[in-house]
Amino acid sequence: MLMATITLRPGKERPVLQHHPWVFSGAIDRVQGRPERGAVVEVHAASGEWLARGCWSAGSQIRARLFTWNPDEPVDGALLRRRIERAVEGRRRLRLLAEDGACRLVYAESDGLPGLVVDHYAGFLVVQLLTQAMTARAADVVQTLITVLAPRGVYERSDADIRDKEGLPSASGVLWGEAPPERLKVRLPGNVWQEVDLRGGQKTGAYLDQAFNRLRVAAYCTGADVLDCFCYTGGFTLAAAHAGAGVITAVDSSEPALEMLRVGLAASNVTTPVEIVSADVFRLLRRYREEGRRFDSIILDPPKFAHAQSQVERATRGYKDINLLAMQLLRPGGILATFSCSGLVPAELFQKVIFGAALDARREAQVIERLAQSPDHPVLLTFPESDYLKGLICRVW
Ligand code: SAH
Repeated sequence: MLMATITLRPGKERPVLQHHPWVFSGAIDRVQGRPERGAVVEVHAASGEWLARGCWSAGSQIRARLFTWNPDEPVDGALLRRRIERAVEGRRRLRLLAEDGACRLVYAESDGLPGLVVDHYAGFLVVQLLTQAMTARAADVVQTLITVLAPRGVYERSDADIRDKEGLPSASGVLWGEAPPERLKVRLPGNVWQEVDLRGGQKTGAYLDQAFNRLRVAAYCTGADVLDCFCYTGGFTLAAAHAGAGVITAVDSSEPALEMLRVGLAASNVTTPVEIVSADVFRLLRRYREEGRRFDSIILDPPKFAHAQSQVERATRGYKDINLLAMQLLRPGGILATFSCSGLVPAELFQKVIFGAALDARREAQVIERLAQSPDHPVLLTFPESDYLKGLICRVW
């Protein structure tokens, strides 16, 4: 079978030589052959030199995703298996692969598997097939996961926005084995138990990228009057309660998420009183300011504000707004744990925004810890886009 060949425009080979895994449509001079959706393609420099091998995404801005820079390595089922095994081994060495635990096993490009995300939740695997290439190889992916991990079931949650850009419809359902129960109890780092809904919850059920940060933040919540904003199913709330928080107010606008938090609290042996508030955080913080409410520790873990470069400015205004309000609600010496999961807002910019918020709030803020995504979401150095979550724990005077 003759493989299709992409030839790059002159001067466009640099990112490929540096092992960045994406080839944008604008970098392509010509395509020889007619690659099918998801087919393997060879990437050549304008000079004709072979550079890499990847998979084609017809019609997408990211026209090809690269899997290997070794001319002797085919992109086939064996590569898939080697990469999945390596990714799983990495998590095993971190001791994250506990039978009753939850962690990300495969983090797409960062694990050499563009378009594939696999999360483990107490024996169930939740899979996201985000590209034409991974969709075309679904059967291979599932078979490999069964062989390597012997799960109870494999469930698909390919309902992320990226599928749109690939011209793929969203898809979810059982791919193999048992269907996950409506609610599943998983043990997170710090022995915090959480209820997850793998079928209907956000992302693949939980925000695993914050698992270790919750423990860091909880360390500042003992005895404190805590406000957990954008709490979802209460990851930070449960960790703070475990750490002996005095009283917690947990806020989110998603009713199903708050219901999971109620169930999670009822099932735990937490004694900290938790007030659950269904509200828009932007409005609620203003109301609390008017009412003169004060807290010792405030957590801000908002959703992604910037989905495109054009939204970065608006996103920074959003971050500034909630951070300014939060600082105004903190007692002197209080703790602000503030996060941004917008990859397009770099850490330096985020810190500048928090600085601006402190100035306007007329408060002095000290950064006492810097946080990033959990180690099961590794940052691939050749792929800076994989570095997206940043957090600052600040003491605010
Ligand atoms: N802190 C959570 C994850 C937060 S994800 C954890 O540790 O698991 C972001 C959450 O923000 C989602 O649950 C979403 O429902 C909520 N959300 C988005 N916009 C909101 C708004 N304006 N007000 C309140 N909640 C909002």
